[in-house]
Amino acid sequence: MLVDSAERVADVVVVGGGVMGCATAYYLAEAGARVVVVEQHRVGAMPSASGASAAIVEALAGNPEPLAQQAQLSRRLLGELAPRLLEATGIDIEWQRLGTIRLAFSSREADMLRTHVARLYGDLGEESEWLGAAELGRAEPAAPERVVGGLLVPSSNGLYAPKYVRALAAGSAALGATVLQGVSVTGFETHGGRVSAVQTSEGRLPCGQVVVTAGSWTGVVSRWLGRALPVGPQRGQIMALAPAPGQPRVAHVVHGPGGYIIPKANGTAVVGATHEFVGFDARVTTYGMKFLADLALRLAPGLETASVKHVWMGFRPNLEVDALPPVGRVPGLGNAFVASGHGAIGVTVSAAVGSLLAQLMRGEEPEQSLAPFDPAKVVSG
Ligand SMILES: Cc1cc2nc3c(=O)[nH]c(=O)nc-3n(C[C@H](O)[C@H](O)[C@H](O)COP(=O)(O)OP(=O)(O)OC[C@H]3O[C@@H](n4cnc5c(N)ncnc54)[C@H](O)[C@@H]3O)c2cc1C
Repeated sequence: MLVDSAERVADVVVVGGGVMGCATAYYLAEAGARVVVVEQHRVGAMPSASGASAAIVEALAGNPEPLAQQAQLSRRLLGELAPRLLEATGIDIEWQRLGTIRLAFSSREADMLRTHVARLYGDLGEESEWLGAAELGRAEPAAPERVVGGLLVPSSNGLYAPKYVRALAAGSAALGATVLQGVSVTGFETHGGRVSAVQTSEGRLPCGQVVVTAGSWTGVVSRWLGRALPVGPQRGQIMALAPAPGQPRVAHVVHGPGGYIIPKANGTAVVGATHEFVGFDARVTTYGMKFLADLALRLAPGLETASVKHVWMGFRPNLEVDALPPVGRVPGLGNAFVASGHGAIGVTVSAAVGSLLAQLMRGEEPEQSLAPFDPAKVVSG
């Protein structure tokens, strides 16, 4: 039993210990709040999205405009967080400037990249450079020979997702937060339009505020609040390959039709990912392995002789309506908040979302407006 008294033990209970929950907890704890994070599994474990992520962090992840601004803020915050988390927790999140190359396999794709995509990056203040086939071969020796060229964006970043989410949790704990693992939230107690306590598999947690960051399970958890949010699971299968000795290493994040490869500090090339609507089916399948192997060989043919180190999956929190991911106050409940539905870009925007939501929850004006993300736009019930 956690708590069995009417005494408030937490200023804030965070439901779900993925990047959204842990980033919000980190910034709240840094501002002095007493925070309890409740995570049903271990932080970063399968089948949640955060530990599974390829963790490509780049400007174009955020499109349209309000998301683009969040992505830019997040990249700045991540640059600051990486050394702070290392110092506080000893965990290196492997924040790196890798650069991205978008491959063109036809002159039509080349035209599209050189005009439309280069302009999108330019609008975000990001430089890009067109590489012809010969220059591309020198810059990225792992790329296939038969490409027309590629668009290089030198400023794109990456990190190592399992370490990032664990470092956020450990960093929050170092700032005084409590992180409960293997404990499930099972319901809420509400009085007079406010949540007074969170019910868990280990007992009740009286609280001043609650934030739902339950990823793909947000649809389920939000129904317990009487406010259904349209967020459900999308399975992403992903694979790490270790190149054979003598084969060229993938040096940049390489994008092509159907997916990407991102190099990691341990020498592996991570190839992703599938986008499947199969409910909460957490299996890694034959289809997934074939999809990923075909993709790897299309983008970096030298990986043919690589060893398969690991194949895994995660459930992306998929927003089931055409809207921006809900971040803010749950309508009709004075002290309940949500941050969810970030699909394939959640790691990228996580630091900004956590920081802005913590500002809102503390009664401050967020440094970037969260109005476009108002959960009232997508909630039902
Ligand atoms: C294969 C793959 C590749 C990806 N690549 C990228 C990428 O390159 N760049 C990028 O920016 N993003 C990427 N993403 C997306 C990114 O990982 C997600 O958007 C992000 O991690 C979502 O974080 P979250 O905290 O909302 O959800 P989650 O990480 O799923 O966390 C939610 C947590 O809530 C917990 N929870 C749920 N219900 C309860 C309950 N009742 N009680 C207690 N705990 C509960 C869950 O166990 C889970 O740990 C990728 C995702 C996948 C799957």
